Amino acid sequence: MMAGRQRVLILGGGAGGSELAARLGNRDDVTATLVDRQPSHLWKPRLHEFAAGTIDSTLSELSYYMIARMRGFEFEQGTVTKIDPARKTVHLVGPESPDGHGAAPRDLSYDRLVLALGGVTPDFGTQGVAEHAVRLDERGDADRFRARFIAAMIGARETGRPARVVIVGSGATGTELAANLRQVEAGFFRADGRAPRDMLEILIAEAASQLMPGAEAALRQSVEERLATLEIDTLTNAKIAEITADEVISADGTRYPADISVWAAGLVGNPCLAELADFDMDPKGRIVVDSRLRTALDPSIQIFGDAACFTPEGADAALPPTAQCASQQAEYLGSAIPKLLAGEEPGPFRYDDRGRLLSLARAGSVGQIGFGRKSDFLVKGKFANAAYKSLQRHHQWTLLGPLRGGVAIFADWLSPAKGAQLKLHG
Ligand SMILES: Cc1cc2nc3c(=O)[nH]c(=O)nc-3n(C[C@H](O)[C@H](O)[C@H](O)COP(=O)(O)OP(=O)(O)OC[C@H]3O[C@@H](n4cnc5c(N)ncnc54)[C@H](O)[C@@H]3O)c2cc1C
Repeated sequence: MMAGRQRVLILGGGAGGSELAARLGNRDDVTATLVDRQPSHLWKPRLHEFAAGTIDSTLSELSYYMIARMRGFEFEQGTVTKIDPARKTVHLVGPESPDGHGAAPRDLSYDRLVLALGGVTPDFGTQGVAEHAVRLDERGDADRFRARFIAAMIGARETGRPARVVIVGSGATGTELAANLRQVEAGFFRADGRAPRDMLEILIAEAASQLMPGAEAALRQSVEERLATLEIDTLTNAKIAEITADEVISADGTRYPADISVWAAGLVGNPCLAELADFDMDPKGRIVVDSRLRTALDPSIQIFGDAACFTPEGADAALPPTAQCASQQAEYLGSAIPKLLAGEEPGPFRYDDRGRLLSLARAGSVGQIGFGRKSDFLVKGKFANAAYKSLQRHHQWTLLGPLRGGVAIFADWLSPAKGAQLKLHG
């Protein structure tokens, strides 16, 4: 480390942490080090597309080592297992190769620590979810789903019995995954005249009385219409009590056959957060932070993204776990941290809710966008599609910088593959 520089350690290189590292890179006053258990970055809002196979993850991930060199920060691969606020150190283990060769456990020291370790889908104690259902929390989950889906579709083609996918939860992850599966199903069939749609049945089961609970009525209706167009079955008031190897069973005992069951209901903080240090946690397992995203345990530690529980003043609920929020918090911390290191007090973080958008593959994009404080507009078609992509364009731009980010965006635009890709290898 160069003299005079202060060391900022960022734990977690996901949607939020990777952007913060890029923002703090190449500064004279800071040495920023990003830590992640993975060697490469994959943008989580596209995980359902990796799972469905509508984009190829090998072409759409970025090596942290490469981004670090490009954007002037350090990268350390390893899994965070403990934080010692008194000594200002973080304990890391791994990585380990599949045949058991691993890096030695070690401690990294910091002047300021930032946690962006994300969240996971909880099973709410539902029997069989851990053993039998796929949850889309990380790259490995998407790969597992994809392998099972391919096997199920080949089985359907060979036996003539449709493959059955049951998705529990009708939020963005469940609905977007379902739409993307419809997009890829035709690829499994030979030109034998058989209608592809007969070979894949998709059911979305929702415990609430409406699909997409919490969404505005107009958006909900628009999504329902699109799912119907795609011949995706939906079920409401369906509280799921158990998942077995080949069934999803509701609390009233109804059994839904499933070759693959996907659990896409809710989000809680990464379970590792509770083990790291004695943080103040909310009931969803997220670390409670103040308006500067600082913890009560130690003001030199800040938390953001899905791992944080931040309730703005006057609001009755914490901010949602979205990439939109994580990105805005990364931008805030990118200017707040240098101020804190210089002994100044930054202003509070303010969230600007830019609405919610869904991309339902060939049924198009739809969303609710806020203009000003009161009005919300339902957007569809090309405008919604452009707005949907703008979040990932912003991510590419922030992560790769104006030149490479611009080139990557232009390459996406020219690419025959659908949608933007974080392709930068080679
Ligand atoms: C299918 C899907 C679609 C979505 N679509 C949208 C959308 O359209 N718009 C939107 O705004 N949001 C969307 N989201 C939500 C969005 O992806 C998350 O809110 C966002 O990724 C949170 O960012 P984060 O930086 O807090 O955490 P993550 O992006 O989850 O990153 C956490 C990072 O921490 C690393 N990590 C975890 N534990 C450890 C450990 N112990 N040691 C080292 N590293 C560790 C992980 O490898 C990962 O890189 C979607 C989510 C999913 C699953």
